[in-house]
Amino acid sequence: MKVHVSRRKLESYAYILVQENRITHVDNRFLKLSGYGKDDIMGQDISQVCSELLRLTYDIRLLKRGQETACFLFTKDLYPRKVTVMLRQENDVKIIGFKEDINWSIEDKFPFIDRLCDHNTLGTGIFAITPNIVLLKANETFLSFFDEPFNKRENAIGRQIQEFVTGWKGSGAEKIWEKILEKGEYFHINEYEYDRLERGTTYWKTILMPIHGKNGVQYVAEVTEEITQVVLDRKRIEEQNVMISQQKEQLEMALQMKDEFFSMISHEFKTPLNVIYSAVQAMELICGDELSDKGKGFINKIRQNTFRQLRLVNNILDITRMNARQFSMHIKNLDIVFLTKAIAESVELYAKQKDIQINFTSEVEQAVIGIDDEKYERILLNLMSNAIKFTPRNGRINVNLADNEDTIRIEIEDTGIGIPKEKQKEIFERFGQVDSSLSRQAEGTGIGLSLVKRFVEAMGGNISLTSEVGTGSTFTILLPKNQAEEVDTFNSPLGLTNDRLINTIRIEFSDIYLT
Ligand code: ADP
Repeated sequence: MKVHVSRRKLESYAYILVQENRITHVDNRFLKLSGYGKDDIMGQDISQVCSELLRLTYDIRLLKRGQETACFLFTKDLYPRKVTVMLRQENDVKIIGFKEDINWSIEDKFPFIDRLCDHNTLGTGIFAITPNIVLLKANETFLSFFDEPFNKRENAIGRQIQEFVTGWKGSGAEKIWEKILEKGEYFHINEYEYDRLERGTTYWKTILMPIHGKNGVQYVAEVTEEITQVVLDRKRIEEQNVMISQQKEQLEMALQMKDEFFSMISHEFKTPLNVIYSAVQAMELICGDELSDKGKGFINKIRQNTFRQLRLVNNILDITRMNARQFSMHIKNLDIVFLTKAIAESVELYAKQKDIQINFTSEVEQAVIGIDDEKYERILLNLMSNAIKFTPRNGRINVNLADNEDTIRIEIEDTGIGIPKEKQKEIFERFGQVDSSLSRQAEGTGIGLSLVKRFVEAMGGNISLTSEVGTGSTFTILLPKNQAEEVDTFNSPLGLTNDRLINTIRIEFSDIYLT
């Protein structure tokens, strides 16, 4: 049946004719507008052509006679065109006309976004709000975000967002979009989690820009970057940090337990040692005259070895106390020149046995500074006993004291075997014994110097070493010229000949046998 269509009325429309829902005639202008060939369209169901081929953003079945409506159609190569659609009916023939809005093109409407779309660095998409959210244009990066088969242009362009984004309905993303469409505000999110895609939880950085028309938001431009790998890496690092800090805590607890254990064991060792020493003293006092020389020799051996054991136990106790920061210093204002000289002189007896000469020199006559005398004795006695131990017969030990501007410098210089360069650094670390046969001869654990360093540092000073193998060693201590808080506690170290010093010397020098 031939249908006459009034040219005047339709001249600005590309049109198709429909009878019983089938397309019976296609205008050439329509073919040009849509990019489809006659064969693609002729005889097809009109609803199907509109929704499947043209992806018309308006449901053609709702179009009333004489009515016009604006919407988008997509050409065969998925290019969006803005059109006005109208419906007329003559007898049983429907005439559906399409008029393109020639002032509208996606390039002119969104010049910046369109150019961004051409680059594939960031996922870029442009949506039309029809009021459904329909994808007008997207680059390959943007499409690659979606699950198969929607990562292909033909399955996403011209489609509604819920059709190509897996799990869209009820998702957090949908809510964000609802808010944007409602409020029309620009939206920027630095890290967004979406867990509905087939590949599992994903993270996104997104900018959504609503573009307004007469009736609210008409378009939304989206620029998105997938940051899943970055976020997962960061989360892994965070988890590892938590694990590391837990392990550190456990390690610290274990170290603390170890210190407590050492402290307890040392105490347990100390009690019987004190009993042995008291028994030795009592034996000498009560039955000293009755003892033969051989007996006295045995008693001496017991005493000396008791002291050696006590030295070790005391050093372990001090180290563990220092680790646990349960260490208190008793700083008094004392004349360090007098104190140093007295200590140097009081060990001469031991040096003489090896024909070692001890020289004391000082640049100043007196220097009163705040120190813990008990710790200072331990420091000096330890260094001097080492100097005697590791200096061969007829050697020399110089104890020099000098007044630097802010510090007092004490040097203990010997002409002994020296310490190899590679061992010099670790000698102050705990148990840093130089493992040579010469030093092994003098026995010991290597705790002494690490304790010396800690004592010096606890007084605010520092200790260093210069040494050359075969020539000798010099230990240099720098102590700050601080004053004790209670200035009137100035004490002349009168008690130097007291039992404590004698005892400390006996203990610190217990490795050196008096004959
Ligand atoms: P210990 O507590 O066992 O006496 P130290 O910590 O005092 O040990 O000394 C550690 C090691 O450093 C000694 O065993 C020795 O090898 C070396 N050392 C210390 N002082 C001297 C020195 N004056 N000359 C040569 N070697 C030394």
